[in-house]
Amino acid sequence: MLEAVELTKQFKQHKAVNGVNLFLEKGEIVGLLGPNGAGKSTTISMISTLIPPTSGDVRLHNESVIKHPERLRKVLGVVPQEIALYADLSAKENLQFFGKIHRLSGSVLQQKIEEVLEIVGLVDRQNDLVKHFSGGMKRRLNIGVALLHEPEFIIMDEPTVGIDPQSRNYILETVKRLNKEKKMTVLYTSHYMEEVEFLCDRIYIMDKGHIIVSGTKDEIKNILSAENTIQMKVERVNESFIEALHANPLINRVTVQDRSIMVLTPKEVNVFVDLFKLAEETKTVLTSVEIKTPTLEDVFLHLTGRALRD
Ligand code: ADP
Ligand code: MG
Repeated sequence: MLEAVELTKQFKQHKAVNGVNLFLEKGEIVGLLGPNGAGKSTTISMISTLIPPTSGDVRLHNESVIKHPERLRKVLGVVPQEIALYADLSAKENLQFFGKIHRLSGSVLQQKIEEVLEIVGLVDRQNDLVKHFSGGMKRRLNIGVALLHEPEFIIMDEPTVGIDPQSRNYILETVKRLNKEKKMTVLYTSHYMEEVEFLCDRIYIMDKGHIIVSGTKDEIKNILSAENTIQMKVERVNESFIEALHANPLINRVTVQDRSIMVLTPKEVNVFVDLFKLAEETKTVLTSVEIKTPTLEDVFLHLTGRALRD
């Protein structure tokens, strides 16, 4: 197990990270979600022993790695936010270079490079210079570099920012596959809640240097569990239907957008019978009715009063 204990980083007057506790259990994909500037990169730089914490500790199997970073570095792969590759070398030459840093050589290195190229989908492009690569291909190669020494843990810092949707999907699928097939433990950092929602077993949501909430997706969403949002699609918005919804004591809020009507109700009440009755009375044709489960975005908004996106 890898854990951060009360991690804090002070840059001059500014506390970028303030008392962060988090852990990674073997085999998990854990998400670190937060808006730009939340302190995600600083947190993972400390966890991966690239920068020292102002206070707090990083522990691998209960032993501090601050004084012995080599213990962690052997079992950890880091995919940094900034691309760290040599533009004038080919993909393969980059992998050879970084493999040597990990003291791999000869046929072992050769085999590892082939395997990594396969995983990140760059076999066909291995001899092309990195300066001719798209952003998505560079990201994929960057991930390949982090995988060369077969780490147990991999930490990825916003690996899909600014790349095409195809590469993005490829990366997300690769993370899933590494976790499933190689049992790799992943800490995945992002400000895209859909990615974290898709990938992660457990999630930490960070804002202004603090972890503001953590748990499984369901646990986090249960924070908003007091109310249900029901979305109805109608053929035509009928004013008398909207008025009737407003007048219904079981309904707390009504919002209309195009041909979609959202109502908020306390979770324990069953409002469906009323909805169908009111629709019939006002000659409203419902084309669909569904309960919307809250998103992580809704939770973030609820806790901070701000949207996750910039
Ligand atoms: P995130 O990765 O969540 O976007 P960062 O960890 O990069 O956030 O940054 C958190 C805060 O710390 C930001 O306000 C940022 O400007 C500040 N910061 C990050 N690195 C440094 C540094 N080396 N010196 C001073 N301030 C920094
Ligand atoms: Mg960052």
